[in-house]
Amino acid sequence: MSNHPRIAFVGSECYPFIKTGGLGDVMYALPRALVREGDEVRVILPLYGCMPQKYKDQLEWKGSFMMDLTQDGREFFVGIMEMSRDGVIYDFIENREFFDWGNPYTGLWEDIPKYCYFAKAALAVLNYLEWIPDVVHCHDWQAALTPVYLRTRFAGTPVGAARSVLTIHNLRFQGRCSIDHLKYWTGLPQELFDYPVFKVNDQEANMFKGGLAYADRITTVSETYAQEIQTDFYGEGLNSHLWYHREKLLGIVNGIDVEQWDSRTDPLLPAAYGRDNVTENKAKNKRELQRRLGLQEDSGKFVLGLVSRLTDQKGLDLVDAVFQQMLDENTQVVVLGTGDARYEGAFRYYESAHRGQVCACIMYDESLAHLIYAGADALMVPSLFEPCGLTQLIAMRYGTVPIVRETGGLKDTVAPYNYETKEGNGFTFDRYEAGLLLDTVQRARQVYEEDRASWDRMVQRDMDKDVSWIHSARQYQALYDSLRPNQEG
Ligand code: ADP
Repeated sequence: MSNHPRIAFVGSECYPFIKTGGLGDVMYALPRALVREGDEVRVILPLYGCMPQKYKDQLEWKGSFMMDLTQDGREFFVGIMEMSRDGVIYDFIENREFFDWGNPYTGLWEDIPKYCYFAKAALAVLNYLEWIPDVVHCHDWQAALTPVYLRTRFAGTPVGAARSVLTIHNLRFQGRCSIDHLKYWTGLPQELFDYPVFKVNDQEANMFKGGLAYADRITTVSETYAQEIQTDFYGEGLNSHLWYHREKLLGIVNGIDVEQWDSRTDPLLPAAYGRDNVTENKAKNKRELQRRLGLQEDSGKFVLGLVSRLTDQKGLDLVDAVFQQMLDENTQVVVLGTGDARYEGAFRYYESAHRGQVCACIMYDESLAHLIYAGADALMVPSLFEPCGLTQLIAMRYGTVPIVRETGGLKDTVAPYNYETKEGNGFTFDRYEAGLLLDTVQRARQVYEEDRASWDRMVQRDMDKDVSWIHSARQYQALYDSLRPNQEG
């Protein structure tokens, strides 16, 4: 066995091919970081119809076969298309019946069969390619059945020798459906449905629950979230299950790809900058942001950014409750996000009520996100829960001070500003209360306005903070090593 492990990543999205949130970023950045450390990594993904054509054009045909899936033994086509980028091999599973619809998700009823198929096909593809990994690293509910298949249908096959890790990026989404629906689409043996593997109650099954039971190790994306999900408030109904499996649960905080997010070389910025010219060039980016969004052009304004999916997870009820009080004549707010109609509507209303001072960009726009990270002074992330959170990491890397609630990865990555020692990375609050968010924004603005030297030092400290993948990648490597038979103590 080589000293470096072979890892197969299995997940439903991966930047730049397809991304709806942080999972896509991790599926991109972690394999690259592991490859730089010498590991061999393959990433197995669905070949979605909605993937941009320029990536489809780069794929190479690797073969195909038929795979049985359902309880009544229906067979489905599995095509393999491959691409290699920066040392990582990407194997896309082609099946137009499942993957030609959606963006990439459709709705649970269709998504359950789609990801039963995907979780099984991923293992079949590894056998077909005769590329047997040490560890199959699965991500979120869409890949949660892979550890189950590994120990059941694939137990006597070459890939059955691999161990499995299942990472929870967000426990809210679990793949719940009727037992009959899951039994039909997985074709898994009856005893798995007799025992409480998938079962939630007499009618309902849960794919994530089964995967967590079968995986050799469970990880989640911060230490705090690993603790939180064992409690009733954050456990999304699986807290007892996770507590039961706590011996194999580990929190490893995410990093960001520091090449993709580099303010010194970012081609999307009008004025690139490093820590030495951050004050001067951030002001230029701020003016460009204000010009582009129709805000009053004044680099002296305190610009608060929010880049987020607009869902209740992200603490938007708090923002909504104190929005008008947060504004003063020296403050501007820029929101970039899409999501629930009630939040989209609320932010549109604030924009129309405060033209020139508030801008609500209800869209997904990668390049505007870069300009906000570079041009804003502070970024709000007041989440109800946050497994890790990437926006606060990107903000710090771009010298934008995070204002966060102390939950999950936000707590683990943002040290609160200390008024005595003038240390820390941002401004934080603990309880989920609108008044505390308001107070925290006001405290941040006060330091910005009245103690700019300390603020500027915090900006530089944030830019110096190591938010790369390297430390986390090494923790994952240690985990993979602990699962390899001849490396175990
Ligand atoms: P989650 O995965 O819960 O959505 P994260 O903070 O882990 O949240 O990751 C969010 C990622 O998506 C970040 O890279 C962020 O910049 C990006 N993002 C979120 N909303 C938008 C948007 N409207 N336009 C561009 N990028 C966005």
